[in-house]
Amino acid sequence: MTRSAITADVAVVGGGIIGLATAERLTVRGLTVAVIDMAGIAGGATGASGGLVRAFDLSPARRRRAAAGLDRYLRRGHRGTWPAVCRQGSLSLVAHNDLPRAAAAVADLDASGHKAEILTAADLATRFPALNVPDELAAVHEPNAGWLPVGPTAHAMARDAGPRLLLIRARATHLLTSGSRATGVRTTVGPVSARAVLLAAGAGSTALAETAGVHLPLRTRAVSYCLFRVAEPAGLSSLPTLVDRTTGAWLRPWGSDALVLAGVSSRKTDVPETVRPDVSPEEQERVRAVVRHRYPQLATAPAAGGVTAYDAMAPEGDGEVCARTGVDGLVTATGWNGGGFKLAPAIGELAAARLQEEAAR
Ligand SMILES: Cc1cc2nc3c(=O)[nH]c(=O)nc-3n(C[C@H](O)[C@H](O)[C@H](O)COP(=O)(O)OP(=O)(O)OC[C@H]3O[C@@H](n4cnc5c(N)ncnc54)[C@H](O)[C@@H]3O)c2cc1C
Repeated sequence: MTRSAITADVAVVGGGIIGLATAERLTVRGLTVAVIDMAGIAGGATGASGGLVRAFDLSPARRRRAAAGLDRYLRRGHRGTWPAVCRQGSLSLVAHNDLPRAAAAVADLDASGHKAEILTAADLATRFPALNVPDELAAVHEPNAGWLPVGPTAHAMARDAGPRLLLIRARATHLLTSGSRATGVRTTVGPVSARAVLLAAGAGSTALAETAGVHLPLRTRAVSYCLFRVAEPAGLSSLPTLVDRTTGAWLRPWGSDALVLAGVSSRKTDVPETVRPDVSPEEQERVRAVVRHRYPQLATAPAAGGVTAYDAMAPEGDGEVCARTGVDGLVTATGWNGGGFKLAPAIGELAAARLQEEAAR
């Protein structure tokens, strides 16, 4: 079906968590927003996400954004309507040589009102006996962090945006420009005219940017997780979320059915932009071979499915909101490389401010 031209103050390509967090903040600023997504809300990396949220990061810049994101998630959004964070706590394992930086990060978080503490391997053995952590590692424990159901959170953001948000289920094929200014987006259901455009289409942003002569190099990276069924009272399904910086493993309780979700970061790049509701036996064994060292029960726990997906990766490995694209009115917010969910409220705030400036120029 082809519609007549749609007009909004801002066109957002991408109905993932970044596009939606931005769209919601734009509507609060009084702007109308057309969100264009060929897969609907949370049909890309967002829908596959593990939803782990925490403030701790060794990088001060990422930590600021993660902390702001966690704050907003803990407040259940701006109107108290988002799903509540499952506050099972978060453990981030760090190697001994990272301890001074981790301790500085904990002090920094504490000063900004985020509860965090360093636990030694001995502390962990006492408090979380199901977990196996060698003496040379320590953990940053954040008792108020945890995880969120990603789909309901994305839908809640869209609902909060209210009638100023128009969701268009279509593929964006071209950016529309006039001279050096973005004027909208061409889609498979017709053109969307706008005073500013946000590209938050994950790896799909690269081809769209190219249509306006903007080079936005992004690659896809494989991100998957497996589910394992654990025998209670082994206690794994009540443990905090775990991110092991030394092995790339991340785990969280599934939230029901004594299941544990477990992934191990992958170096596989240039994978298809697809989400599959299963994992290969090889991936299950790759993950199990790593996570069994921290949760010994997972050595024999039966596999119970999982997800095979991707995220967009910027060449430097860090996502960014960029308003200096060379095309006036065009802002990009991409490249979150497996960690964008926890940052989304902070990124949305920043991108909305940039877009409002661009729309007013
Ligand atoms: C398995 C997995 C687990 C993860 N776990 C965590 C976690 O625990 N914590 C965390 O913080 N992060 C996690 N992440 C990362 C996080 O989910 C992503 O960084 C984040 O969701 C990216 O959001 P986004 O809005 O940028 O992209 P996406 O969610 O991919 O949204 C982009 C949207 O653009 C649409 N699109 C693309 N091209 C076009 C086009 N031409 N026209 C129209 N629409 C288009 C797509 O359909 C898609 O919906 C995980 C990711 C995966 C895959």
